[in-house]
Amino acid sequence: MTKRILVYRPLNEDQLARLERDFRVDYLPKIDSAEDPAFLDALVNAHGLVGASLPITPALLDRAPNLEAIASISVGYDNYPVDELTRRGILLCNTPDVLTETTADTGFLLIMCAARRAIELAGMVQRGEWHESIGKEWFGTDVHGKTLGMVGFGRIGAAIARRGALGFGMRVLYSNASPKPELEAELGAQHRELDALLAEADIVCVTVPLNADTHHLIGAREFALMKPSAIFVNVARGKVVDEAALIEALRAGTPHAAGLDVFEREPLPETSPLRHMPNVVALPHIGSATHETRTAMADRAVANILAALNGEQPPSPVNEVGPTHS
Ligand code: NAP
Repeated sequence: MTKRILVYRPLNEDQLARLERDFRVDYLPKIDSAEDPAFLDALVNAHGLVGASLPITPALLDRAPNLEAIASISVGYDNYPVDELTRRGILLCNTPDVLTETTADTGFLLIMCAARRAIELAGMVQRGEWHESIGKEWFGTDVHGKTLGMVGFGRIGAAIARRGALGFGMRVLYSNASPKPELEAELGAQHRELDALLAEADIVCVTVPLNADTHHLIGAREFALMKPSAIFVNVARGKVVDEAALIEALRAGTPHAAGLDVFEREPLPETSPLRHMPNVVALPHIGSATHETRTAMADRAVANILAALNGEQPPSPVNEVGPTHS
């Protein structure tokens, strides 16, 4: 029997052709809810899933009795119940490394835009309101030479810090689950406990994964520890930050500004004050969203699912399961 792969994010023709060589493909690239009837129908017969973002719950897994492997087109895997997948013998794969530099570019974009008020000022030009040299009420703040505090110092955190240390002459502090002596040697980075980092950094940038330990890692207490001039950037996951506390803190003036690519609810609800705050740069979760990187991520997901369903070692497994049913 030919195995079936349910694809619920866009792939290019070449990627689809690679899957179709040995497998039957149910291609539903526009699904935006796991409740979609076409998705639920295809799930029943799926041996493999290729997609991203949809929360894959144990209840959904109950509807997928043949499922052997999932290839997520993302590095973050907070939307999958990893222990439950392992218990059921379902392999989960992700796409590390190929998106690191692009997501780091996005992190630095947010740092620069928030510090130099680029979006506010570009809006002024666009609306035809640039009539004279701007006054100091519109001045931004320097990024070069400042202290960058990385909360999370893995692949993306290190790539942002590298930009800061080597490109902008920044001093780098980090807090992380484990020490990073090799990055301390490479970048002169110094370890700090989280509270000390928050108090000392001019720019605080969050890149930890979302998990039980990091949910609301940054809340009212943590914002109160920051400098009033601090710039806060989140390119990790929205739920790492207590968003209501962030809004209150920004209104109260500490931190001074924020650059956000991710939110507790996405797309950002119409009622969110973050949409209208002048000291907030809000992007629609574009960390890895370039043509080159999204293609590379989908290529990695295709390689992962092909290997997994053929009983081979995939390039980027998240969990370990016994031999699959192939
Ligand atoms: P990574 O290499 O695994 O780095 C994560 C780092 O966080 C690791 O160094 C890890 O410590 C540390 N960490 C984990 N739990 C922690 C905790 N409780 N306290 C302190 N540090 C902790 O992952 P990555 O490739 O850099 O990606 C990081 C996250 O970025 C992803 O999980 C994803 O959610 C997010 N992301 C967002 C976008 C976007 O579009 N905005 C794009 C890509 C990724 P150890 O080194 O000790 O394990």
